[in-house]
Amino acid sequence: MSTYVCQLVRRLATTIAAATTVAVVACSAPAERPMEPAAQTAPRDATTRPSVAPVAGDPVWHYEADEGPSRWGALSPKFRACSEGRAQSPIDLADATPVEAAATLKMRFPAAKLQIAHHEHVADGINNGHTIQVNYAGGDTLTMGGQAYGLVQYHFHNPSEHTLKGRHFPMEMHMVHTSAGGRLAVVGVLIEQGAHNHAFDPIWNNLPTQKGLETHYPHVNVDVDDLLPSSRTSYRYEGSLTTPPCTEGVQWIVMTMPIQLSADQIRAFTAIIHDNFRPTQPLNGRPVVTEPVVLASTTLP
Ligand SMILES: [Zn+2]
Repeated sequence: MSTYVCQLVRRLATTIAAATTVAVVACSAPAERPMEPAAQTAPRDATTRPSVAPVAGDPVWHYEADEGPSRWGALSPKFRACSEGRAQSPIDLADATPVEAAATLKMRFPAAKLQIAHHEHVADGINNGHTIQVNYAGGDTLTMGGQAYGLVQYHFHNPSEHTLKGRHFPMEMHMVHTSAGGRLAVVGVLIEQGAHNHAFDPIWNNLPTQKGLETHYPHVNVDVDDLLPSSRTSYRYEGSLTTPPCTEGVQWIVMTMPIQLSADQIRAFTAIIHDNFRPTQPLNGRPVVTEPVVLASTTLP
């Protein structure tokens, strides 16, 4: 992982308590890791190993019971935004703001340009008990209003967190981007059940099956472009992280068109992680507009 991305991930980790473990794993791991016995289905170059233990003192949260979403705000002063925030995520995407109203709001939603770099990259898939997260080795940049955000990780929820007119999709992918100044932008992709999606095979064939496990993929060739839907229209709104500490000021870009995973692919994920979603939050008058996302592709060595 490049120094630049490590800096970004570390900044992100100061914002996302839950990501601390992941950041430590991603940025402190030696370049060469000892080869350990891989899972039977893993190709030669994928290795699975224990992740590091959670940092002592991090507040514990879950998706159920006394530590579930309705209680997050009470679990720690650090999580206060979860209960007191007025611009929280996820939301129901039922009512996009009328076009004429949105026209006056354009300045708040500068054009999003996604610079996709096509290159083989090193990745780490980490099962942190809340999700399976793929830390990304860098190269892809999202630009909005002159501000550059680097893709640092993508992870998955079951079912979707954003809903469309009240309807959940089987899954949702979140591609988390962070700026050098620590600002956050997340590209959300709804996932419906359909055809087998080969773009996910390099990761999906070697998912870390248990909490605390990390799969290291030294040479995965995941093209982020292929993970996105063919239609580049998106819902745009300003919200928050959907996990504690529920930090606000997150620029959300939720693609309007879902992508597909097969029933088997969805089952492979939900056999490991399921019901890791936060219920939708009130809009409180926030505008939601639909905007195209401009894609520009480059090829890196
Ligand atoms: Zn998420």
